[in-house]
Amino acid sequence: MTPVSRAEVSEAVPVAQQEIARLAASPEVRQALARLRLQEARFAAWQLEMAGIAAPPFGESARADWLARKFTELGLQEVHRDDVGNVFGVRGTPGKEYIALSAHIDTVFPAGTPLNIRQQGARLYGPGVSDNGAGVAALLAIAAVLAATPIHHMQPLLFIGNVGEEGEGDLRGMRHIFSIPRWREAIRYSVVLDGAGSDTIVAEALGSRRFEVIVRGPGGHSWSDFGAPNPIVVLAHAIQTFVQVPVPTSPKTTFNIGIIRGGTSVNSIPESASMRIDVRSTSMAEMERLESALREALDKAVEEETRAGDSRLSAGRKLSGLSSEIVTIGNRPAGELDRNARILQVIQTVDAYLGNAAQIQRASTDANVPLSLGREAIAIGGGGTGGGAHTLQEWFDCSGRELGLKRILLTVLALAGTGA
Ligand SMILES: [Zn+2]
Repeated sequence: MTPVSRAEVSEAVPVAQQEIARLAASPEVRQALARLRLQEARFAAWQLEMAGIAAPPFGESARADWLARKFTELGLQEVHRDDVGNVFGVRGTPGKEYIALSAHIDTVFPAGTPLNIRQQGARLYGPGVSDNGAGVAALLAIAAVLAATPIHHMQPLLFIGNVGEEGEGDLRGMRHIFSIPRWREAIRYSVVLDGAGSDTIVAEALGSRRFEVIVRGPGGHSWSDFGAPNPIVVLAHAIQTFVQVPVPTSPKTTFNIGIIRGGTSVNSIPESASMRIDVRSTSMAEMERLESALREALDKAVEEETRAGDSRLSAGRKLSGLSSEIVTIGNRPAGELDRNARILQVIQTVDAYLGNAAQIQRASTDANVPLSLGREAIAIGGGGTGGGAHTLQEWFDCSGRELGLKRILLTVLALAGTGA
């Protein structure tokens, strides 16, 4: 995930306070909470084992096999994989509604990246060890302590190890889950486990759209074909118009032209030119407005350069014209959790109970998908601390993981209801 600054101190909502205290005080739950501390070595071992199995974007199947075996060993029911490779397991009596607890299993690292996963004391090192080794370890930790404790919860828990969260994966795993009517209707709450930590609650989904703009022309010799329309000039005009589009500070909306390419030599009129643009907002409407502005800016630039080319050409000469296209290369939906949503009340009350200070954040995670559909979802860390995400120097420190795990367990049990 990519957190974005937005500090807001969480305030406990009084509604569920007694409920959480009662839940945490029940003998079975106390037993489960104690196991979260006692089994730390086992969780770290799973985390190392999993991080040692490569899971590049679109290449998660070996890790998915491993996770499915773990789900089965931990007694989850209906363990299976779907068409895109997401792994599922259920705890509790299957019903009409589920509480989903998910962690993405993919990494940003391409196939062939040396993994070199290792442990020194409480620290684990290696690519993906925290993002999302911490999330998957937490998912398994919750399944493990529930398997060992006779806790009855009213609604079933749906454990998911999903593919395709990172970069080019473009949330494809989560998107697929919510495109299947069975799950789209049945998943009432989604708790997404992403990375380390226990001090944040991602409740706002930062959306993004990414485009590649390609302009093609006849090309030619800079001297003898002078007048032929120039794709680089088209891009320059389009950029000039597009960057003047006003963007609001709230909902915060941004754009970036990150890459521009084109041409072959200084004395050739280029045959093509392209650029890549990134647009971000928590508002779908703003992203759509910017996309339209980009399309208009490009059409206008093509017209301008076509006209200018015609006037440069000597009378009677006619060259084939320009063509342009905009290809969407990334699309993450935006959304925002209602401040009165039950899932937010529950996690904030759990945090108050645990004496944990957490901030509400805006980020791009698997929670974008349910949030964009108006569903209740949050993304939180798997406990412990981590750093160097998306680099070969990535690390995770298991110290204090217990707090993050307690937070997750109490949250999902409160959402599922135990009758405690
Ligand atoms: Zn992640």
